[in-house]
Amino acid sequence: MAQPVIIGSERSEAGLPTGIEVLRRGGSALDAVEAAMRCCEDNPADHYVGTGGLPNARGEVELDASVMIGSSRRFGAVGAMRGYPNPISVARAVLERLPQHCLLVGEGAELFAEENGFTKGELLTDEARRIWREQLQAAAATEGEVAGRSVEGENTSAVPGDRRYREAALDLVRRLAPHEGPWGTINIMALDASGELCVGVSTSGYPFKYPGRVGDSAVPGAGNWCDLRAGGAACTGRGELSMRGGTARSVVDLLALGTDPAEACRLGLREAAGLPDEFRAELRALALTPDGRHGGASGQPGSVYAVMTLDSTAPEFHPRVVL
Ligand code: ASP
Repeated sequence: MAQPVIIGSERSEAGLPTGIEVLRRGGSALDAVEAAMRCCEDNPADHYVGTGGLPNARGEVELDASVMIGSSRRFGAVGAMRGYPNPISVARAVLERLPQHCLLVGEGAELFAEENGFTKGELLTDEARRIWREQLQAAAATEGEVAGRSVEGENTSAVPGDRRYREAALDLVRRLAPHEGPWGTINIMALDASGELCVGVSTSGYPFKYPGRVGDSAVPGAGNWCDLRAGGAACTGRGELSMRGGTARSVVDLLALGTDPAEACRLGLREAAGLPDEFRAELRALALTPDGRHGGASGQPGSVYAVMTLDSTAPEFHPRVVL
């Protein structure tokens, strides 16, 4: 039996030490992934997940998350959920407490979170609001004005001119640039002592996205896939490409054929990156097999992923192969 291991995409190192402790105590892969991801979601300095995540075009933080278990391929997810700081835990609750469904979005996800006793929280931090406003101002500076109104407002549903603003939202989404810096969804996957695999994904999604947009992180086969017969895979980056490519599922299909994890990620990404797309094209993938092998690929050089085993004292960073 392979030794327990936990791996994650850039910035998962905020949570992996907590996840590996769960595995050290003999906890499940699902418990380890959830515990690790919650640390990342609670880190306000991370602008791509949970509290502190960058908002949609209207200044509202909408979160997507999913978990998938390898032996049963049970899947739980939430999309475009507002007001709950730990979407990974709500996704887990969908998996465990709502077996008739896999994915809840928007108000339904929020209702489910409330009914299941999750605590609400303010997700839009001052720093994330500042970055969003700067983006609006930069967009206004290039075109004079955003949709015929000032960009001073925050939640635009409350201000006059909101209708014109919404009419122009698609144009705004096109013009707002993704935030600079180490960006992206967080993928975390774990293999536990019993040999179970679990993949978790959490995100605030494409920065300044159209309200209601759900990305690959909540979609099985796109941003998350886990099958104990072959392995688990997850994606970060432009979710529209991994949704159109079915990328996480493609990577696992390649693992099933015996492809090495890094190469499986590279081939899966290459297929998705070849699709016609005029927007931000960065995409990264990560994979873990039931015998503990792992690898990652990225469209850009310099990208890494983090690994912890039972012997680790700190996360170790491994390079991803470049597309
Ligand atoms: N994959 C995420 C999404 O499309 C965004 C990201 O990883 O940057 O929602």
